[in-house]
Amino acid sequence: MSARILVVDDVPANVKLLEARLSAEYFDVMTASNGTEALAICHRAECDIILLDVMMPDIDGFEVCRRLKTDPATHHIPVVMVTALDSPSDRNRGLEAGADDFLTKPVSDVVLIARVRSLTRLKMMTDELRMRAITSLEIGMQAPERSAVADTGKGGRILLVDDRPSSYERLATILAAEHTIDVEPNPTEALFHAAEGNYDLLIVSLDLNNFDGLRLCSQARSLERTRHVPILAIADPENSTRLLRGLEIGVNDYLLRPIDKIELLARARTQIRRRRYTDHLRDNVQNSIEMAITDALTGLHNRRYMESHLATLAEQASTRGKPLALMILDIDFFKSINDNYGHDAGDDVLREFAVRVRKSIRGIDLACRYGGEEFVIVMPETDLHVAGMVAERLRRSIAGEPFAIHKGAKRIEVTISIGLTTLEQKGEAVADVLKRADTALYRAKHDGRNRVVSQAA
Ligand code: GH3
Ligand code: MG
Ligand code: MG
Repeated sequence: MSARILVVDDVPANVKLLEARLSAEYFDVMTASNGTEALAICHRAECDIILLDVMMPDIDGFEVCRRLKTDPATHHIPVVMVTALDSPSDRNRGLEAGADDFLTKPVSDVVLIARVRSLTRLKMMTDELRMRAITSLEIGMQAPERSAVADTGKGGRILLVDDRPSSYERLATILAAEHTIDVEPNPTEALFHAAEGNYDLLIVSLDLNNFDGLRLCSQARSLERTRHVPILAIADPENSTRLLRGLEIGVNDYLLRPIDKIELLARARTQIRRRRYTDHLRDNVQNSIEMAITDALTGLHNRRYMESHLATLAEQASTRGKPLALMILDIDFFKSINDNYGHDAGDDVLREFAVRVRKSIRGIDLACRYGGEEFVIVMPETDLHVAGMVAERLRRSIAGEPFAIHKGAKRIEVTISIGLTTLEQKGEAVADVLKRADTALYRAKHDGRNRVVSQAA
């Protein structure tokens, strides 16, 4: 897994150094010597991760970071600030500006590569989700980027796994100012607790008594319900090699003791924002899958879904030797409903029609909108006789009760015609079954409408 890294520094020697190390690990490296240039490259979406020097002549690193993080077009690009000295105030300013991580000059090779690798993983996943979300945006859904930018990262649910009272009491007090925090001092309970609690962030101490905190982190990564929950590890400075292992197995970020209050809050907020952002994107993907198979007006399945699913149902019926019934329903003189009462009234009728259909069929039956005012219902394990009774019940549920239009101000009579058939012959083509049902429907129309016509196979 490789990525394109943008190195930004006004000192050419610093650029060269980082470029050499990253290239040696097969990362693709781009460089910029000032903030303006860096912003332009990010806007052209040419890089995956930015290593950003703090002290630069035109626009300093903090300002570049702030601009990137407040712009929906660039805020998802991970920013690593490279600070000259290990100055807590620089780190905090950077975190406030939205930086994702820090490296301190001179930069250690191991830390550099570990951080860039972990951010690359995150970036790849976010890119994939953003790409799918953009498709759903094109069909009129809300931009997840916009709400993510507005999110402060506060008000999260955090589980802190730490068995030292002096430590967890202090951390919990700090975090409680912005979040809801639960403490789990017993590491053997922690995984269960994490899976049950629907947390936005896990903070795990790696200095637990008689328990390997890294094991907990790796278990949390492999468990379905905690897989996407970010992990912030806490360790003593002498445990930094274990921290690197942690980053390799999917720990998202870390803090070294003694823990700086502002840094803790800032890192927690960053992880929570990221978590919400990716959740949002994931929901979006879920929505677009649903939208792709659902008819927006009636909430029934659409034709595309029906056609692919019908083939599966037919095959199942054939192999199990069970009957499969299929009916086409068509609203009578629907055009005149539109003509007399308006298109909106027509839409009201379609929606109410779908409600009544849903009430009349079983959960395993498949109802879909086949075209404008034409619907198909497929009923597994149902023979022609039983299907005929269901069709008749449906016909009555429509004709027997007028439909409300114009927000309930008026009620009109609606009727439907139904053509019904079954698939009984092994391996019969689905298209032939549909054609037979359509022929039956045509006869129902021809014979005077508001009726069911069955056509045996
Ligand atoms: P028949 O009894 O022979 O089925 O006559 P009909 O008027 O129902 O059939 P026709 O196929 O002539 O007209 C169907 C009409 O349905 C035409 C079309 O404008 C309308 N229609 C299709 N989709 C929609 C929709 O989503 N909303 C509304 N309001 N009307 C629709
Ligand atoms: Mg019609
Ligand atoms: Mg029609």
